[in-house]
This record gives sequence, structure tokens and C-alpha cells, in this order.
Amino acid sequence: MAGKKSSTLRLYNTLTKREEEFHPIKEGKVTMYTCGPTVYGRPHIGNYASFLMADLLRRWLEASGYQVTHVKNITDVGHLLHDADEGDDKVQKQAERERLHPLEIARRYEQEFLEDEKALHILEPAFRPRASEYVKQMLALVRTLLKKGNAYETADGIYFSVESFPAYGALSGNTLQNLSVGARIEVKEQKKHPADFALWKKCVGENGAHILRWSFATGEVSTSKGEDPSSGFPGWHIECSAMSSSLLGEQIDIHTGGEDNIFPHHECEIAQSESATGKKPFVRMWVHRRRINMGEEKMSKSLGNVLSLPDVVAKGFSPLDLRYYLLSVHYRTNLKFTERGLKDAHVARRNVLAWMERGGGAVFAGDIEEGRPVSDATPENIAEFERRFRDAMNNDLNTPEALAAVFDCIHFMNKHALPAGAVSEALTGFIRVIRLAFGCFEPEEADIPADVLKLCEARTVARARKDF
Ligand SMILES: [Zn+2]
Repeated sequence: MAGKKSSTLRLYNTLTKREEEFHPIKEGKVTMYTCGPTVYGRPHIGNYASFLMADLLRRWLEASGYQVTHVKNITDVGHLLHDADEGDDKVQKQAERERLHPLEIARRYEQEFLEDEKALHILEPAFRPRASEYVKQMLALVRTLLKKGNAYETADGIYFSVESFPAYGALSGNTLQNLSVGARIEVKEQKKHPADFALWKKCVGENGAHILRWSFATGEVSTSKGEDPSSGFPGWHIECSAMSSSLLGEQIDIHTGGEDNIFPHHECEIAQSESATGKKPFVRMWVHRRRINMGEEKMSKSLGNVLSLPDVVAKGFSPLDLRYYLLSVHYRTNLKFTERGLKDAHVARRNVLAWMERGGGAVFAGDIEEGRPVSDATPENIAEFERRFRDAMNNDLNTPEALAAVFDCIHFMNKHALPAGAVSEALTGFIRVIRLAFGCFEPEEADIPADVLKLCEARTVARARKDF
């Protein structure tokens, strides 16, 4: 690290609703959990914005010297169509549509997700647990909650009693009062409070045809078919509580997700985990990415404005242009996604890349005034840009300010002689930090499948001929 000591990382904690200095439970080590995708369709760029934010945070923690253990799950069962405990399982529903087994659907979309993550230079987590492979751990948690009086059984499942956990609502700002206004309880659920949520769903009633199922008694895969109250499947929320404690311990440093996960998902995770372990807090720092809009509209399937990564690549952009675009805006702002913005990101990223390839020298050789002395820029000049960059990242991952420091450095070097000696060394160090933090300033062509590249080339040629 060049120059002065850096500031300490500060992050906005959704739980306390303020920025806090980050200090992990164990010095030098960070445990971090990210709610992964529900694998029933290709994720859209709004989902990736949240995964990219988590990746940026992890990279910055590592660049700051922490050893990070990152877990990102795969939800392949139990995520119902409505966040309330109604409707079909998303994976099973898609399986019915495509006339396949739910696990075939889950594995296919998991594969697509992994390909997209790779193309976006999202670092591989230490663990990618699949919910369907942690059912025994989930059932152990459910039994603990039953024993402690936090859960109760009904005809169609096992529910968590929100009234048994006084802090319920602390993360999202909800109260039990406002959650019961206008809410109704489905007769078949027999819930005690409308906000009570399912820990376990039995294969009865509307879930009588659920294909992926486990024996409640043993946690083994069940081969029964049709109605069978002794078999069932986990609720979505208990999955993350179980996988998180199994892999990272009962208390963790950071939990990330999209804004949409705050309620009910993360609120429920806190209630389950803290009730089961008696340890508070379950998570020290809750970090959430705000929603992405398509221009002025909400991004939604019904509006037909959902973009996936292949859509972006088919428009002639690199996955790393998208990465740059989504990271160039602070994660706590609602980005209004536009193609114009993506184009600007493409140009900006190319300029930074060109500058890096010149070792931090002028992007355009013509910008250098002839006859300037080599001693023109000093290592202190570069250290100052790097300090600004680090301070911005430590300031709740303020990427717009961090990138401003990069562009100011580029403009500065454009007016100075080609770097040499200590200046060159300082620039090399700074560039390494930028690359590490942002993950989108490496040549990426090798990661794009050949057929996609060919398609892009054809489009470029067509564009040049104006016959597209
Ligand atoms: Zn989760």
C-alpha cells in the first residue's frame, strides 16, 4: 500500500439503519453469506446487480487484507410463487411447464447461472450449498424451534410463531400490528398470526403433488407419491438459516441480498436463527442492494422489460461492460437502467483498459506535450489518487467516487510525460488495486463463447454498413 494509512471500511447496516465501521467477529477473518438464486429461470440483470454488489464487497474485503469465507446458496426447492406461504413451488411449477423433473430444471438453470457468473467475473464462493442437500440440517433447526416453543404444527405444515420473537420486524421496520391489518389467514393453514411463516410444508392439499419431498422423521428423500403428511419440504427461509449456520457458524459477519429479500426472507432468517441459538445478533452487518429499474419502469416479466445476460451480449456488449455499469452506480441508489448508460459504460471501461495497457501512461499519445520532462509526475501524485480511491471504497463502497479518482488520475497522466521509475511503480500498484476491486478491467474476450463473438462481429459489420 502506497502512502498514508487508509481509512476503515464503513458500511450501511440495514438492521441499524446507519453506517457503521466494519469489525469482524474474528480478527482478520470474515464470514459472509449471500442469498443465491432460485433456479427456475435465467436470472435477470436486476438479480446480478445484487450478486455483483456482494462480489465487490468481497473483493474489497480481500483487497483490504481480510480472509473471506463466502457462502452463496442455490435454492432448488421450497421457494413458493408468493413470498407468503401460498402458491406452488417455483421450481416445481417450471418443471410442470417444461414437463421435466424439478431437479432437471434446477440443475439446468443452476448451470446457466454459473456460466453467467463466470462471464461476469464473479468470484467463486467457498461453498455453494444446494438447499435440497441440507434438509437434515433444516429439520434439526425446525425441531429445536418446536422444542423451544417458537414453532407449532398444523394440518398442512409447521409454522414459526412471530409472536414468540419480540424483535420480529426490526430489520424491515414492520410491526406485528401493521402486518395483521388487512391480512387474512388461509383456513387450511390454521396459522395463529397472519405473519407466521412456514418452516415445513407437508405434502397435503395443494402441495399433495409436490415431487421433491423428504421424510419428516428421518430427513431422507421420500419416494411416496400424492398426499402424505409424513413427508414434506422445507420453507424457503429456514434453508438459509440452516446452510448459514452449518457452513459459517451460528453468528456471521455479513449477510447480503437484494432489497426485495429484506422482508419477509431476511426478517424470518433472523427470527429463526436467533430463536434457535439464543445468540444475538445472528448477523452483524446486513447489506442490501437497491432495486434496478428499466428506465422509469419497474423491471418485471409482466411488463416484458426483463433483460438477461445473453440479451446484453446479443446487443454487442461484453458481460464486463454490464459489470462496470452496474458497479459504477452506488449500491444504495435505484439505478435506472438504459441502453445509453450501458453504451457509456462500454466506452468508459475501454478508456480505463487502454490506460492500464499503457502502464498508466497517457491514453492518447497525442495528448502528451512534446519535450516534457520525465520527472513531471511524482509517486506522491499517484499515491494521492490511490488514497482517494481507497477512501471512497471504504466509505460504504462509494464506487462513483472511486472511479472519479481513477478518471482524474487518467486525465492527470494524459497531461504528463510517460511514467518511468518510481512513478511507474506507483501506477502499477494502483492499477492492481483497481483491477482487484472492480473485476472488470481484464481482457475478457476469452470468456465469451465463440458463437456469441461471431454474432457480435456480424452485428458490428452490419452496423458499419448500416443494414441492421
Ligand atoms: Zn436466503
